[in-house]
Amino acid sequence: MPLSAWFRPPRHLVVLFFGIALILMVALAWLGWRLFQQDRALEQQRVQVRLEHAADIAAAALTRRLGDIEDALARVASLRASELPDSAARLAGRFSHDAVVLVLTGDKVTPYPSGRLVYHPVATPAVKPDVSAFAQGEVLEFRRRDLPGAAGVYRRVAQSGDSAIRAEALLRLARTERKAARFDAALAAYDDLTALGSATVGGLPAELVARHARLSVLEQLGRTDALSEEAGALYEDLLRGPWCLTRAQYEFHAADVCRWSDCERGADAASIAAREALAAGAEWLWDRRRTARDDGRDVTWLNGRPVLVVWQHAADRTMALVGGSTHLTEDWIEGLEPTVQQQNVRLAFSDMNVNHLTAPVGSPQNLVITRTMADTRLPWNLDVASADPLADFAQLAERRRIMLLGLATLAVLVAVGLYAVLRGVGRELEVARLQSDFVAAVSHEFRTPLTSLKQLAELLASGRVTSDERRGRYYTVMERESGRLHRLVEGLLDFGRMEAGAMEFKWERVAPSDVVRDVVAEFQAERAEGGCHVELTVDGPTPPVRADSEALGRAVWNLLDNAVKYSPDRQRVWVHVSQADGLVVITVRDQGIGIPPAQRDAIFRKFVRGTSSDGRGAKGTGIGLAMVKHIVEAHSGEVRVESEVGQGSTFTILLPVEE
Ligand code: ADP
Repeated sequence: MPLSAWFRPPRHLVVLFFGIALILMVALAWLGWRLFQQDRALEQQRVQVRLEHAADIAAAALTRRLGDIEDALARVASLRASELPDSAARLAGRFSHDAVVLVLTGDKVTPYPSGRLVYHPVATPAVKPDVSAFAQGEVLEFRRRDLPGAAGVYRRVAQSGDSAIRAEALLRLARTERKAARFDAALAAYDDLTALGSATVGGLPAELVARHARLSVLEQLGRTDALSEEAGALYEDLLRGPWCLTRAQYEFHAADVCRWSDCERGADAASIAAREALAAGAEWLWDRRRTARDDGRDVTWLNGRPVLVVWQHAADRTMALVGGSTHLTEDWIEGLEPTVQQQNVRLAFSDMNVNHLTAPVGSPQNLVITRTMADTRLPWNLDVASADPLADFAQLAERRRIMLLGLATLAVLVAVGLYAVLRGVGRELEVARLQSDFVAAVSHEFRTPLTSLKQLAELLASGRVTSDERRGRYYTVMERESGRLHRLVEGLLDFGRMEAGAMEFKWERVAPSDVVRDVVAEFQAERAEGGCHVELTVDGPTPPVRADSEALGRAVWNLLDNAVKYSPDRQRVWVHVSQADGLVVITVRDQGIGIPPAQRDAIFRKFVRGTSSDGRGAKGTGIGLAMVKHIVEAHSGEVRVESEVGQGSTFTILLPVEE
């Protein structure tokens, strides 16, 4: 079909409808999209307001808490020396394991809880023991190379009551024994030195020196199992921080011990780094204190980890809180939980370069509100984000679902509408085609009798027909043809009235067998020449029906006419009148071409002509059966058809018997 055909009536309706529907759909989709965008922006704004509010609350709470800690540090710093340890320990007890409270004085740093620093910024001043007691032993050891003699001297001095002298003597004894390759005696001397506990040798704790030296002997002896076990134990003690070591001393011993015990794999690397970061924090503050004596709060990166340092000066003391990243999470963020929980948000800290000090609040595409250090005067930037971003937008997703559902419903409605319009237009086109077929058929029906009437009339008028007998035959033909024309015109007029619902029936009580008998006789008379034969049988006396005998006769005539028309080979028709179940049954049977099953309902519609009429030259207008249906239904009856292609058809009229 050419495209232009779609723009001509009635198809243009389809195009119009489709165009309008499409525009409507696009407009609705666009509007829906805009609405959704706006809704989303509003929702985002609402979430932002909530986060701003939560950020303000959290910042205020953090500032208050930091202020409280600074006050507490200042208070403890100003206490008397005797009261200080208890108060400092109490203060330290408020924080997690990743924090330490420090007291910095002119020459030392004291951590609370003690042992939390793996190394100290300053060394403990070493007490120089009187070494004259070892002079004799050293002469024997170094000048005379009399190792047993020297060992005897050192062993004697090691009996001294002064623990510093004993420690020095035991160290020398162990050395001499090692030189003499008496390793077990050397190890025993180191054990004795270890047992001295808090004594120092050469500024280092005697215990550490002894255990370290023991390890080197074990290495020398190749006792790897004992070496690794003792080295592991020493490393754990180093981390527990019982000794006051400098950074260099700690790193020297830790490096050696690690070499012997493979500590990196054995211990938790992150927690070691955290402990070292606290010590680095103490060192950082010590260095700073040398140049400035102000109070302060800061987060600084030490050993690749963030360290919070808050400090307060009082007289000659500085009190400080040093905490690592776990402290920031556990004591600051989780400490704020009750405050932020009702806001349903999460918090995180970052430094001025936006490095995360704690776990970030969420993925970058989520909305994050930041309160900067400049805004809050806190030592970090505060990030606040929703704890459940999906829940924030759950309602929005619900609204979007409803909108999509609406659009889908609309699309379905438009599709149904389009289908209905297409069907309507299809029907309209079909009726238009049938109507034009009808006009052609009617003209054809008229032309045949009119032509023969005209010819006969001219013949008679010319006076050339002299025989009375021939003239009489012509008159009979003329009468029959004009009768046919009359019936045709009457039929069309009646059909028009029936269609308009204006047909007036003349109801009377009639015997259906009489009506059928008259029609058959009349039909036989008219068609006798064509060789057609109608066989009528009536089963007994038929009860009367309420009918318009002329209309009923027309219905039977139409059926007879069709039966003959569509039986080209055998012009034999059987008409039967009977009664059954309170109904009068009139059947018209032929042995004609039959009707395909698909057309058995359609042929009762106006203008519809079946395929049986195609190509066989059967004349007709397609209104015969429509009229039969009209008439029978007006009589409260029913018309049925049974047919087999090639075998014939049987039309049955059922009429209710009049009571
Ligand atoms: P028409 O003027 O075409 O006969 P009708 O309404 O009387 O119109 O019949 C409709 C169609 O039904 C016919 O075109 C024909 O195809 C089919 N038809 C009607 N009666 C018969 C019959 N007895 N045998 C075969 N086909 C029939």
